[in-house]
Amino acid sequence: MSYFVRLRPSARCAVCFFVLCAAVSFCGGAQITERLIASGFRPGRVAGDPIDTLVIHFCSDAVAHPKNPYDLDAVIRLFAPNTSAHYLIDRQGRVYRLVRESDTAWHAGAGRWGKRVNDLNRYSIGIELMGVGAAKEMEMLVRMPEAEYRKIAPADRGFTAAQYVSLTALISEIEARHPDIKHDRRHILGHDEYAVGRKYDPGKLFDWGKLGLPAQPSPP
Ligand SMILES: [Zn+2]
Repeated sequence: MSYFVRLRPSARCAVCFFVLCAAVSFCGGAQITERLIASGFRPGRVAGDPIDTLVIHFCSDAVAHPKNPYDLDAVIRLFAPNTSAHYLIDRQGRVYRLVRESDTAWHAGAGRWGKRVNDLNRYSIGIELMGVGAAKEMEMLVRMPEAEYRKIAPADRGFTAAQYVSLTALISEIEARHPDIKHDRRHILGHDEYAVGRKYDPGKLFDWGKLGLPAQPSPP
């Protein structure tokens, strides 16, 4: 009989919990797997900057592989070396941490949100959903022709129910850590609402109602 088996049930649970926590942190809602990337962000934040905004994005490998757009490694490789986001949620709702919230991810780029002009990264947390937008959005965003878009399986377009569940849990946790992020459409916005005419994610296939939020943004 092994040492492990001789442990009392409660002790075994504690061991399992510890082992699992080594790879996955699930203490309070969303399970988050560490997949920290090495570049594409700025270490640290500017002292005194509030973190008061959440930006929702989508990403995929659909341009190169329209029939297999969600290979995790391929999608993560697309960020390097000049872009990043704090979190990535795959089609099954698994949440990956790519950049620590204490670091400045480069996800928003040029745009305007109230007084914030081209510097929203400083004040925000970026969440990427593996997803593909509407045909017109993909044409505008990545110049994907209609014929290429049709190669993407309908089930691979838009977002999954599991993603909305995980996103809701993740946002609740982030809001608890950063009380300046209010649960409204002033503080939670789409990339397309900040970078109007330049970005088209998360686009019209994203259902803000699933987060308990209105479809229309409320810029400050
Ligand atoms: Zn984006």
